[in-house]
Parts: sequence; C-alpha cells; structure tokens
Amino acid sequence: MKIVAVEARVYQIPGRRNAQDVPWVWGEMAQVYVSVTTEDGLEGIGEAFGYGIPGASAWVVNHTLAPLLVGRDAASIHDLTEMLFRKTHLFGRYGVTTFAISGVEMALWDLAGRRAEMPLYRLLGGAARTAIPAYASLVRYPEGHAQIEADARKAMDEGYAMLKLHQLSVESVALARAAIGADVPLTVDINCEWRPSEAIAMARAMEAYALLWLEEPVWPPEDFASLNRVRAEGGVPLASGENLCTAVQFAEMAAQQAVDYLQPSVTKVGGIAQWLKVADIAELNGIGLAPHSPYFGPGFAATLHLLAHRNQAQWVEKIYFDLEVEIFKDPIRFADGAFLVPDGPGLGVALDWEALEPFRKRD
Ligand SMILES: [Mg+2]
Repeated sequence: MKIVAVEARVYQIPGRRNAQDVPWVWGEMAQVYVSVTTEDGLEGIGEAFGYGIPGASAWVVNHTLAPLLVGRDAASIHDLTEMLFRKTHLFGRYGVTTFAISGVEMALWDLAGRRAEMPLYRLLGGAARTAIPAYASLVRYPEGHAQIEADARKAMDEGYAMLKLHQLSVESVALARAAIGADVPLTVDINCEWRPSEAIAMARAMEAYALLWLEEPVWPPEDFASLNRVRAEGGVPLASGENLCTAVQFAEMAAQQAVDYLQPSVTKVGGIAQWLKVADIAELNGIGLAPHSPYFGPGFAATLHLLAHRNQAQWVEKIYFDLEVEIFKDPIRFADGAFLVPDGPGLGVALDWEALEPFRKRD
C-alpha cells in the first residue's frame, strides 16, 4: 500500500509532578509525534526524540524524509529505512536525522501491525510476557534534597520495585538508599558529567550503596576506553547507550567490554529494527540490556512491545512524573508495579489528537 502522507507534529506539554508538596515543578516536555498514512487512509504513529530540539527533529521528518517516502510501499520497512539512512548519512549519523528516522520507522511498524491486525510483539515473533515491571526514574533534584527520600519512598509505595536517580552526589544516593532499604535495586545516572578519574573515585565512593549500575559516568559518551577503565577500577557495573549512533556503535562498545548493560533508546537509535539489533549484540556478547525509555507516547509503547518480545531486560524505565494531559485515548495500564503491554494492533495505542491540539506548537 502506497504512502500518501508523512507528518511530524510538535507538542509542548507541561509536566505534572507526582508528589503534591514539591517546591518546584517540572517544565514543559517537548513531544514529537509522527504519523504515516497510506492511500487507503490507514495511519501508523511513531515518536521521534525531540527534547530540546523538537522543531529540528520534526523539520527533518517533514522536509527531508517525507518527500523520500511518499509514493513508496509502506510494507517495505527494512528497505525504506536503509534508504533513509543512506540518503541522510552526510548530515550526521547520530542526532536529529536518526531521531527523525526512528519516528518514521516506528510509525511504519505500527502501520504494518494495524494492517495485519496484530500487536507489534506478535508481528516480531511473539511475546514472552504480557506485563513489564517498571522502575521509577526520578529526575534530577537539588543534591541532598529531602524530596529525593520522599519520592523514592512514594514510588515504592506505588509498586515500583526499582529506583533510578539522576543525582551526582554520594549524599543523595545515601538518602535514596535509606528510603528504599537494602534490597531494592538502585541505579544512578550521571548523564556524562564526569572525567574518567572523577568517575572512578565517585564509583568507589558509591560502592557502599550497592548500585545495580552506574549510567553514563564519563564524558564523552563514546569514549569506550575510559568506560572500560572506570568499569575495571570503579568496582560498580556500568550502563550506557542512549547517546550512541545505531547498532554499529553498540557493537564497538560491546567489543571494548566497556559496559555491563546496553541501553538502546527506540526514539533515538533508529527505531524498532536498530533496537532489536542492539538486543542481539547484548545477547551475543553476554551483556545485559536496560533500554532507555523516559517517554510518554508511542516510544514508551514500542519499548513495552520490544521488552515483551525480547525477555532480556527485567524492567522498563518510567520517568517519575506525568504529563498534564492524557495523550492516549486508552491509557497504558499500570498494575502491581508493571505496565501491561498494549495488545491492540500495531503499538496498540491511539494518540488523542484532539486532547493534544491545545499543546501543539507551530513554527
Ligand atoms: Mg540515562
């Protein structure tokens, strides 16, 4: 079936904090949602990473990728994606172009599932599970703030069985560990803030808090040799990958034995197929898988399908706050600490375009 339209839309949606008594609020979250429509009117949806540059990701979809896709067969997902990668590689293999391709590729898979009337996980070969336990991924708070402890405890009360912090101090990690107890898995995401020697010292200082992993401890993210050194000398398992370019860089990171967990991000890495390649790399190298998914839209749904299909990662990452508006017509259900994998056709979710409209941003 021929593609007749490809469109990315940008939304700026205020975040709603879960805790009632926080002294600050999380600002607007940029969302880039992609739709691909075929000549019979069927529509598939996807999500491209936007964050601080949503207009750029959407522009690439609307002005660079759409003209290459209109008139082509929507069922040729692999062929079309390969064509997009080749046509855009000169603009950078990592970044905006790959974010845009991720959104389009995801929409093509959603479309294929809708056409076949089966959920994505079944289209990929079936699911090993129907619900994915989630970990609460707290945003970065002021270091040592009492809210870290309060939200950590609140997340546990809500059923989350694991916690991630985005804090940089030992003091904050100690607060969270005290709040959740000794048995709950705890991870800390550094977002590439440290020099290698600093990362080794901090990893050692955090050793007492039994971290499941330390995430992206060094700058720059593609410095695999330094990650390898931090891993060997820091005494804490490492995770990384949300800032890597396609499966090629993951293979290199695995070859250098730089981390214990690979973290593909479905809205950034190139989409569903690239994510699966990274899962293969993890499996073939005996490395853990811990995908990056601080998303609310189709990207989160896609990650649930992928984790249901590939039973390699124990948890799905859920950023610990919600958006001001319910973006899906039928929200993804959370029960007993796990998200239920949507079982409708494709991604199994429908964006509520009407509810989203007030938050739409047009350049
Ligand atoms: Mg991270």
